[in-house]
Amino acid sequence: MVLDDLGSSLRGTLDRLQGKTRLDEEDVEEVVREIQRSLIQADVEIDLVMELSDEIERRALEEEPPGGTTARDFVLRIVYEEMVDLVGDSTELPLESQTILLAGLQGSGKTTTAAKMAWWFSKKGLRPAIIQTDTFRPGAYDQAEEMASRAEVSFYGDPDNDDPVEIAREGLAATEEADVHIVDTAGRHALEEGLIDEIETIDDTVDPDRRLLVMDAAIGQGAKDQAQRFEEAIGVDGVVITKLDGTAKGGGALTAVNETDSSIAFLGTGETVQDVERFEPNGFISRLLG
Ligand code: GDP
Repeated sequence: MVLDDLGSSLRGTLDRLQGKTRLDEEDVEEVVREIQRSLIQADVEIDLVMELSDEIERRALEEEPPGGTTARDFVLRIVYEEMVDLVGDSTELPLESQTILLAGLQGSGKTTTAAKMAWWFSKKGLRPAIIQTDTFRPGAYDQAEEMASRAEVSFYGDPDNDDPVEIAREGLAATEEADVHIVDTAGRHALEEGLIDEIETIDDTVDPDRRLLVMDAAIGQGAKDQAQRFEEAIGVDGVVITKLDGTAKGGGALTAVNETDSSIAFLGTGETVQDVERFEPNGFISRLLG
């Protein structure tokens, strides 16, 4: 069965349904409550949790379990289907020439993600280049250069230039030999106008094929606002969720995906360039419900 890695309390509740062939209202309510608790703990936005659990409840009560299916498997299947529907498959990433713009708040993990993605593309046989336009955060240039060298990919940045738009333009020209251009941008602590204006201008300049929003797994209920602002400014094609090696479950990504009508592209699972995984729905859903 799918979702074999469920958290113990939901598993316990489901296991109590083991012998049953039909679900009564009380059973369904208990499962739904357990799911709500897990998702809220995982930082999924409350409205979204309610929408999802209402739908699970409705289906579990209204639909007929297919013949031979136990009540437990029936409700588990509904939970899984509804979660997959929301989370979706990983963001499509053709292995071809492209420009990818990374956006997000300061500290979300953009610079690290740029290097990870470059490493990932290079392992797929492409020639990536990182273009570092973060002139705002002290140390961003050195960090990006160092990580690019560890990933063994091309790098462009200019510590003497404080105009990120110019760096972006010059970076694209200077790394013409590369086929995948990953443009790292400056973040701020919050969503001030300056950040949004800057990323809009960089977006116009580099005309990316894909715009990815990088989010810390611990973002929690702030994910909605952030996703909305970046969606309005540049449009978000995919989400990267970082620091999943920590305790946060990354439910904010679900909120962001829902707000931007996009999907999850990559998961960051550590500080080195190799600590990156393509998103895969099953593991992520189990983690959220765990
Ligand atoms: P930026 O300001 O968005 O460019 O963020 P950085 O890439 O500089 O990342 C901020 C901090 O988070 C750094 O100390 C990174 O090493 C760390 N970091 C980024 N991604 C991950 C991750 O997936 N796991 C862990 N444990 N740390 C990460």
